[in-house]
Amino acid sequence: MLHAEGPLLTVDVGDRTATETTIDETLETAVGGRAVATALAHERIPFDADPFGPENRAYLAAGPLQQSSMSFTGRMNMTGLSPLTDGLVSTNAGGYLSRNFVGTGISVLELAGESDELLAVHVTDQGVEFEEVPELEGATVPETSDYAAEHHDLGPDNCIAIGPAGENRVRFASVMTFDSRAFGRGGLGAVLGSKNVKCVTFQGDSAPPVEIPDPPEMDVHREAAQSDDRMRRQGTTGGTEFINDNFSLPTRYFREYEFEDADGIGGNAVEEKKYKKGACSACAYACKLPTRDEESGVETEGPEFETVYAFGSSQGVGDIVDVMKANELCDSLGMDTISAGVTVAAYLDSVDEFGNAELAREVTEQIAFREGIGDTLADGVDRCHDELGVDNYTVKGMEFAAHDGRVLHGQGLSYALANRGADHMYAGMLSLEYSGELDPDGTLGKAERLVQEENASAFRDTGIVCAFGSDYVTDERLETLFDADYETLMEIGARTVRLERHFNNQRGFDRSDDGLPYEIPDLGAAIEEYYEARGLTDDGVVPDAAVESIAPSAD
Ligand code: SF4
Repeated sequence: MLHAEGPLLTVDVGDRTATETTIDETLETAVGGRAVATALAHERIPFDADPFGPENRAYLAAGPLQQSSMSFTGRMNMTGLSPLTDGLVSTNAGGYLSRNFVGTGISVLELAGESDELLAVHVTDQGVEFEEVPELEGATVPETSDYAAEHHDLGPDNCIAIGPAGENRVRFASVMTFDSRAFGRGGLGAVLGSKNVKCVTFQGDSAPPVEIPDPPEMDVHREAAQSDDRMRRQGTTGGTEFINDNFSLPTRYFREYEFEDADGIGGNAVEEKKYKKGACSACAYACKLPTRDEESGVETEGPEFETVYAFGSSQGVGDIVDVMKANELCDSLGMDTISAGVTVAAYLDSVDEFGNAELAREVTEQIAFREGIGDTLADGVDRCHDELGVDNYTVKGMEFAAHDGRVLHGQGLSYALANRGADHMYAGMLSLEYSGELDPDGTLGKAERLVQEENASAFRDTGIVCAFGSDYVTDERLETLFDADYETLMEIGARTVRLERHFNNQRGFDRSDDGLPYEIPDLGAAIEEYYEARGLTDDGVVPDAAVESIAPSAD
């Protein structure tokens, strides 16, 4: 089976040591990316760890395809204990980091410990250097990239970095790469902040050899380059109007299901502001959205659909330029646009100011610096909704993505059960329900499919293949690429989901954490169907006997 190559590099920023560990057996069993990172996290982060403590660890991992010339592979995975959900999260970002990362010769970076001083960590194929960077305290993400360029001749494609939000332990702070691509969900930026790590750079020419089968490598690339999908012009925003027409665009903090100004923030509005093509490394599909507004001078990359929802419909804001400004602010300050936008929407609800985009930006900035009301909001809706006097639209502490589970009931079931909470990338139920392959009404009988979709997403995050490439990197092509049958690949995904849930169970997660803040039909019975399909106890717990250790311990 094809798998990533290279050692695990453990960087302890507390004692400033770097140690390489051979993890060949783990890679042979779990391939790379999310599966390997989850196996390591399960084995090496204590079950009772404080997300902000030195005992928490953050894992940055590539899969074997990050060495290919194939489209849909310009992505990386990060895993760690989330300060937002208090459970294990994995999050995935594009950009141009992946090839520089594998050039250092490692398969996984593990960040451990806690530094006394703000640090830049430089990883090369020659070793690791620690640089104290007190001058970067409070710096934005682009300012941090400028520093790496000026002092080390490196680009934003060599870096992961946090902004002020990460330093200030905002619970939904992101880790950024290429200035505009976010390891967004779950607050791993705050984990780096708690370790006093401002940025990590990667540089080298020592990628271990990995033989990628061709075909399908170049076939995928050619088909991606020739595609006339709307997504190539409008990215993820291309579906905004369709989603709105399906009453699944939450509006004014979940008060409504459709937004009267969706046209003003949707795919056509974004395309009008797009001034050039954007991509991730090696990807000819190029669905990214560099946008510019000549009148205001704002320039950003995106907004993606979820930002259009979080800072647009969710806040009652119908002007794409306002959403672009908020997108740029979040990228620069280093915050997940979904959690930040929904949290600001909750605040606008509490002060009856829906539609006030200027206030929204002011509060967004306050969150990153934990100033005024921002200090309260920086902990997320789950922790601050009582103080605001609004409903708690979260699952496991995570703010909802769009794609309203009150309308797409299978997606609602996914939100209720996902180990990382109310996130839309955990399983692809929404696509099945939009396309009509599954009837959006009802939850019963959908559990088996949900399990399959979770496993498939977990494996694609392992390979690593972009979620938008499934029409090109088909299941059959995955079998050829990885030289394994589909069931074997899906078992790798299943083990990953199982390890996440087992880890969370050890922290006290159980049946009471699976659910929704609103009612959908037969949710309780559908949850029971899922437990059975997943092999869980009636209380939503993974039996210890179902968990095997496939990673070396930290001792
Ligand atoms: S499809 Fe889009 S998001 Fe995915 S790798 Fe290609 S450019 Fe990046």
